[in-house]
Amino acid sequence: VTALARREELEKRFAALTPATRLHIGGQQLDAADGAVFDRVSPRDGRVVARVAAGGAEDVDRAVASARRAFDSGRWSGLHPRRRRAVLQRLARLVEEHAEELALLESVDMGKPYTDALAVDLRVTVQALDFYAEAADKRYDEVAPTGPDTLATITREPLGVVGAVVPWNFPLMMAVWKVAPALAAGNAVVLKPAEQSPLTALRFAALATEAGVPDGILNVVPGFGPTAGAALGRHPDVDALTFTGSGEVGRLFMGYSAESNLKQVSLELGGKSPQVVLEDAPDLAVVARAVAGGIFFNQGEVCSAGSRLLVHRSVRDELLELVVEAARQTVVGDPLDPRTQVGALVEEKHLERVLGHVRGAVEDGARTVLGGNQVLAETGGCYLEPTVFDQVDPGMRIARQEVFGPVLSVIGFEDAEEAVRIANGTDYGLAAAVWTRDLSTAHRMSRAIRAGTVWVNCFDESDITVPFGGYAQSGFGRDKSLHALEKYTQLKTTWIKL
Ligand code: NAD
Repeated sequence: VTALARREELEKRFAALTPATRLHIGGQQLDAADGAVFDRVSPRDGRVVARVAAGGAEDVDRAVASARRAFDSGRWSGLHPRRRRAVLQRLARLVEEHAEELALLESVDMGKPYTDALAVDLRVTVQALDFYAEAADKRYDEVAPTGPDTLATITREPLGVVGAVVPWNFPLMMAVWKVAPALAAGNAVVLKPAEQSPLTALRFAALATEAGVPDGILNVVPGFGPTAGAALGRHPDVDALTFTGSGEVGRLFMGYSAESNLKQVSLELGGKSPQVVLEDAPDLAVVARAVAGGIFFNQGEVCSAGSRLLVHRSVRDELLELVVEAARQTVVGDPLDPRTQVGALVEEKHLERVLGHVRGAVEDGARTVLGGNQVLAETGGCYLEPTVFDQVDPGMRIARQEVFGPVLSVIGFEDAEEAVRIANGTDYGLAAAVWTRDLSTAHRMSRAIRAGTVWVNCFDESDITVPFGGYAQSGFGRDKSLHALEKYTQLKTTWIKL
């Protein structure tokens, strides 16, 4: 009864909201130049929840021009860093105050459980804003040891206009991982959210204006990839483009840069992260829960999802049984229901894509241990039950291709060497986990696995203080931590002859 009442209360609160749906350019809410709009269909129940302006090339032009004017005016880049800090801290407080509203918009827009949106996405978003706000006035520049007759200073300058193109799985959080360091460093930003999840970015832009971010310093242009996204990627007056999304589109952004002005590009792409369980792993019940959480959290729509379970033959049967039990107990359902752990996949097209991967696995000879089917179709939403495949061969498509859904592949191995070979045997290198009681094995495996993040005896540990990003075709450049500021600044050397 309480869960039902809570869900109804959230539904009512959503119905009472009037989401911002127009472009945010120069501090103003504008329609698209050609008046185009698109429907936001919630994957929760297939209903249209908003009609959003569809920005095109002309709108990107307007946004970039506004960003350039604002940057050149020095009203942001020339501000005392302490003042930039204060504005970003005010923005953090406003986001905190509106956390429930933003979590609700996120959940209905793209299908993740409301409780996760609030406890993870919004908490991390506020943390990121506070962290980069603090960084704004705590970084020092350098003086090079060039000798007694000269002074050479090395200072960091903002790049100018930064374009940010982000995906739909953690829409606001990923946007802020880029926008917060870019703004803290003094840049102006044009953000293009994914067409599946524009609502929180637009609300965030309004809060930024309220916090005192000058007009034109943060612009948001919702719209489609091949139009708005490509226009930003190709724009001759954008100095840097920071992207999170698929490898396919990441490649396009490299091309856009090459065709236009050689803007600096950084890419956060997909993954096929292994969770390696050795024969001396700690308590298997704990491991099983972490393995299940590592793949089913956020419906598996996580770039670092632990989609491959690599398990030593000696513990394989026992662990598989425990993981399947944990998967069975994972509640799939309405994102607004507080009991839900796996919400809706982002859209019909994506559900079809994931089901295609599932069919491919069966064709290739993997054994379905659990799931594999769409559920709750009567709701009109896009739900898939947690799915586990056993007897997966490292060469199968399901072991190599990113699924981006709640689908786990189990692969056996004989020794640590083979585990490393399989772990590294994909095009990706975003993250990995290793479960062992042996300290030396933990360190050796961590060094041997080619991935931007290696978790030992845990999964999904995360903090704004550590960098996040990929090796190999998982991309380059890092979000989070002070290192992220490097993406949004360039070095200036000044020689002074004494
Ligand atoms: P996508 O790459 O298609 O979209 C990401 C962003 O790029 C969106 O804003 C989209 O509008 C834009 N875009 C799409 N086509 C474009 C084009 N031709 N030119 C310019 N911009 C374009 O990703 P998706 O379909 O939304 O998500 C699916 C895949 O994205 C997943 O399989 C996964 O690999 C990847 N992904 C990775 C992460 C990560 O954090 N590394 C996060 C989400 C998604």
